[in-house]
Amino acid sequence: MNDTATWPPMRRDAKSAEFFEAASRGELAIKKCTDCGRSLAPEAMVCTDCGGSVPAWTSASGAGTLITWTTVHKAPNPVFAPMVPYTVGVVELAEGPWLYARITGEPRAGAALRAEFVHPAEGESYPTWVVTSGQ
Ligand SMILES: [Zn+2]
Repeated sequence: MNDTATWPPMRRDAKSAEFFEAASRGELAIKKCTDCGRSLAPEAMVCTDCGGSVPAWTSASGAGTLITWTTVHKAPNPVFAPMVPYTVGVVELAEGPWLYARITGEPRAGAALRAEFVHPAEGESYPTWVVTSGQ
């Protein structure tokens, strides 16, 4: 497994600026519905529970559980070639939302994960999810 290669450089835009700013500080930013309080994925523009349309940024604990995963052996695009093989999966945050993310360590259903932050020389900082149990 190639757990040390970084993603191709990412750039923030107006919708992702707060997420990447938090990542640069080693914090995981998610959204929270200002109407019902439900925690939402970082990309949420509306609440999937009550339909509230003004989710606000908040900090998440960075703890999660591995739901499912796959290991990529053939790069889907040449820019990913230096990374293969790598594992991506679905992480259920302790706060509830699910994220699609890179997984490092030995994946196992139900494994405890924690967010660690990568600060590449080029592009934005971002979280990767490390298996912390069952190794
Ligand atoms: Zn809501």
